[in-house]
Amino acid sequence: MAVDSLPAKARKISANIGAHYVDNARILPWRSPPGGVLPDPYHVWLSEVMLQQTTVGAVKSYFETFSRRWPTVRDLARAEEADVLAAWAGLGYYARARNLYKCAVHVTEKLDGIFPQTESELLQLPGVGAYTAAAIAAIAFGERAVVVDANIERLVARLFAIDTPLPKGKVEIRTAMDAITPDRGAGDFAQACMDLGATICTSRNPKCEICPVRKQCAAFAIGNMERYPVKSPKKPKPVRRARFFWIEQQDQILLATRPPKGMLGGMRGLPDDDWAAGNDGHATPPIAGEWRVHDNIVQHSFTHFSLEVDLAVYQDAKMVTNRDEDIWWPLDNIADAGLPTLFAKAVKWKLKEEK
Ligand code: SF4
Repeated sequence: MAVDSLPAKARKISANIGAHYVDNARILPWRSPPGGVLPDPYHVWLSEVMLQQTTVGAVKSYFETFSRRWPTVRDLARAEEADVLAAWAGLGYYARARNLYKCAVHVTEKLDGIFPQTESELLQLPGVGAYTAAAIAAIAFGERAVVVDANIERLVARLFAIDTPLPKGKVEIRTAMDAITPDRGAGDFAQACMDLGATICTSRNPKCEICPVRKQCAAFAIGNMERYPVKSPKKPKPVRRARFFWIEQQDQILLATRPPKGMLGGMRGLPDDDWAAGNDGHATPPIAGEWRVHDNIVQHSFTHFSLEVDLAVYQDAKMVTNRDEDIWWPLDNIADAGLPTLFAKAVKWKLKEEK
């Protein structure tokens, strides 16, 4: 990595992190070894979208499934959107999956299946934000882009003891990351920082004794590492209530395809009481009958609110529904329905109750 243009402290940090990465890089299915040929942009894009707000451990198997089933961006663009959403089930933040599909179609149809190579052009792609554009530009194309994910944010906030609380402090953190990013090898450097944050400069109990930048670290020097990154006090999340409906007939369960827009849009799920449209659901069942209600069987945390769900159960061999969105799904095959975690939790609870 070329670090000549950096001031002394930044140069030292950059060189130490780069040298540490050569022997300690995590081996991940979407990566190339340090200093090796640049990885496939499709793989970098796919992994970076999956890694947003999700751990490497959770992403690995999804990445392998996606890249085996859809080996190129053109293959992904040719898939049915419903199959892509179902394959994403369990990974959460489903808007990412819809944007992933939209972006694959855009790159295939408008750009002949070739990802643009600069940060500013990548930023124009559907669903590609500042972080993802910088990461793809640096890792897949070797551009000197400044990459800041949550691991890097923590590492840099500690190295420079940045006292401005997040989210305001993000500006200073980015400026500091800019100062330590080398002119060449920015992709390796970003991945080196990600690895350091994930494995050594962890949120709790950072392993400073084996850290390659301990001598340059301001938080270590004042002995207060876990203070950083400084966060603004969290406001408590509002709690919303919802009801799901379990409608069973001859070992099949009624599922519905959710409307294409809105929360969990386009995914399969249990019929519900439109909780996603308002503060709480209205608890009205889709058909009249004798319903048995189980209290508060699922709690789920979304970014801006928590949801408490109860489950109303209706089992009647003669019951008929004919809504367009209805799907009868065999219960012994429910794992293949691609239900988002929220609904999968409710199904698991109900099936356990029956044992
Ligand atoms: Fe993080 Fe400790 Fe290294 Fe500082 S010395 S960067 S706090 S692991």
